[in-house]
Amino acid sequence: MHAPADRTGRIHAAAAAALALFCIWGCADRGPAVRQAVAMNTYVSVSVYDRDIPRALVEARLDSAVAVIRHVEAMASDYSDSSDLGRVNTAAGRAAVRVPSELSNLLRRAIAFGAERGGAFNVTVGPLVKTWDFLGEHPRVPPRRVIDSLLPLVDLAAVAIHDDSVFLRKRGMALDLGGIGKGYAADLAASVLRRGGIRHAVVDIGGNLAVIWDTPGEQYPPSVTVEVLHPRRDGMIFGSFPAGTCGVSTSGDYQRCFFEGGVRYHHILDPATGYPARGVAAVTVVAADAMTADVLSTLVFVLGREAGMAFLRNSPGVEGLMIVEEGDSLRPIATDGMGRIFRPEPAL
Ligand code: AMP
Ligand code: MG
Repeated sequence: MHAPADRTGRIHAAAAAALALFCIWGCADRGPAVRQAVAMNTYVSVSVYDRDIPRALVEARLDSAVAVIRHVEAMASDYSDSSDLGRVNTAAGRAAVRVPSELSNLLRRAIAFGAERGGAFNVTVGPLVKTWDFLGEHPRVPPRRVIDSLLPLVDLAAVAIHDDSVFLRKRGMALDLGGIGKGYAADLAASVLRRGGIRHAVVDIGGNLAVIWDTPGEQYPPSVTVEVLHPRRDGMIFGSFPAGTCGVSTSGDYQRCFFEGGVRYHHILDPATGYPARGVAAVTVVAADAMTADVLSTLVFVLGREAGMAFLRNSPGVEGLMIVEEGDSLRPIATDGMGRIFRPEPAL
């Protein structure tokens, strides 16, 4: 596991730029109050733009927002045996494990998304994710026989949840909330800010954004600008779009990947094959909340160009942008609503 800080433990100033999406403030005169952290295996940045709340109060809200993100990490990280989710995974095939209601509810929601479109979003991909080890020091393509032997463990029907007790019926099974947890945590952090009276803020957990932008007007610009990173040019922007209160998430083949034999292998797996989903470089989804956006960006990525765009176009309240590779160039494909607001970078 790579902690995204340098060897001195310092968080890189350009943290947000290293990830899928980030927001900029339209006014140069006065910046937001920003808190950066490393959590959930990625960079976290929480920015509050409200101008009429005392700074000390804003700082306290920022602390609470980061604390709630760390709480989700402690509950739902799959790389720690001591997290609630880790205990469920360790007991797979042996025993049911009692978990906090918050986790059983999150799991129910995650599993419900698995019913969509042939199970492209599947939180039982844990054994595959561990075997691919995208965050390891020397990731490599696992032998096909190993992948094939793990496919029977990718099985949502073998997850039994009764009240707050969770049982994975097969030994070796493992739940992985990597495709939903960051969005969920961003929403929780945004609610903490809201309860503290904050009305203009962006929570960014590794490119999963919860935007609160309630009262645009004289004091505040009409929207924040969300920048979509270029999937092939490190740190460069592919384009941007304006957003109000919403959730935004990007899933990309460039986020956690390695090359072998000139082929890119990345962390978004097709549960049907056990191999990285092919055909798309990145998907950005805008939805009412960050958790939905998080799940749908992963799901649409797995569905691929045709089925993924059809899914986005048929989802009420959801807009999206898919970036596909065509030879040496990249082509954006947008839903109607996104097409009206997306501005590609002129230099591209
Ligand atoms: P995201 O970055 O939100 O697209 O989520 C990708 C992460 O979710 C991966 O790093 C895995 O931990 C996990 N994951 C990979 N493939 C899938 C899948 N098909 N369904 C659900 N989660 C997945
Ligand atoms: Mg996701």
